[in-house]
Amino acid sequence: MTSSLGPGNWSVAFPTPLHHIVDDTTRTADVQLYLKRDDLALADVPGNKYRKLKYNMSAAMSADYPKLLTFGGAYSNLLRAVAAIGQAADLPTIGIVRGEEHHPPNRSLQFCLDHGMELAYITREKYRQKTSPEFLAGLADTYGEFYLLPEGASNTLAVRGCAELVDEIDIHCDYITCAVGTGATMAGIVYGLDGKARVVGFSSLKGGSFLADDVRGLLAAVGKEHLSNWWIETGFHFGGYATRKPELNEFMDWFEATHHITLDWVYEAKMLFGVYALMAAGTFPSSSTVAAVIAGGPEPD
Ligand SMILES: *Cc1c(COP(=O)(O)O)cnc(C)c1O
Repeated sequence: MTSSLGPGNWSVAFPTPLHHIVDDTTRTADVQLYLKRDDLALADVPGNKYRKLKYNMSAAMSADYPKLLTFGGAYSNLLRAVAAIGQAADLPTIGIVRGEEHHPPNRSLQFCLDHGMELAYITREKYRQKTSPEFLAGLADTYGEFYLLPEGASNTLAVRGCAELVDEIDIHCDYITCAVGTGATMAGIVYGLDGKARVVGFSSLKGGSFLADDVRGLLAAVGKEHLSNWWIETGFHFGGYATRKPELNEFMDWFEATHHITLDWVYEAKMLFGVYALMAAGTFPSSSTVAAVIAGGPEPD
């Protein structure tokens, strides 16, 4: 079913499909593995970013904010999503980019420019102050009034939007797994399940043990801090955010050759590598059903 849920003329395909995955590892582990294909929701933008933005866009538009401002790195999936969805909704967008400007801009930033986003570059030191009131007041002096989306769009409205992916899964699941960058997608899944099944997150960052506190904080913000049916695996970062290793590349090649799906390597390949490792280690009991959320696909070329 294709429905036009988006603000403006942004039409997206929800619910996203579930794909059953069968191979030697799933058979040996006796696990029913499904992929929740949020990477198929829309072109160029990860489905979880749409889910995070959906209620934020409605909030910005219903309160008549003249523009939307957010932050991201030079390859940020969120900046691309905000640019595309802002343009579709006719809401001007500003992207504050971490680090120096490069000429010509990389593909990801060019995509933002092509979708009408105004970009400003700030140093890494300044970027670290992105939540301080003084820094935000300075941005208001420069840009006037704006709806502020935090980095990763990880706020309560994002958690509510991400929770909707759970309702779309119409089979019984014992586990739902996802990649963790800021943790809002994971918090949304935990919130949506409301105590049913277990959620396993896989940190795509090195030293991701702080992420559990972030997820707890997001759950507390929606009144669900008591939920404990989740954990985060921190050993599958392959060197850190946006870093890869040969064994990750081999896994991606094998997965593509076997299942004809090209994985995004920054998040989803690391997560699925981890899911396969847990299957091989017997972490999921025999005859369990696992749904792995593929939040987005590889970067557009
Ligand atoms: C942003 C992103 C994530 C991480 O989502 P968080 O809610 O920040 O944890 C995972 N996968 C893809 C493809 C993304 O773009």
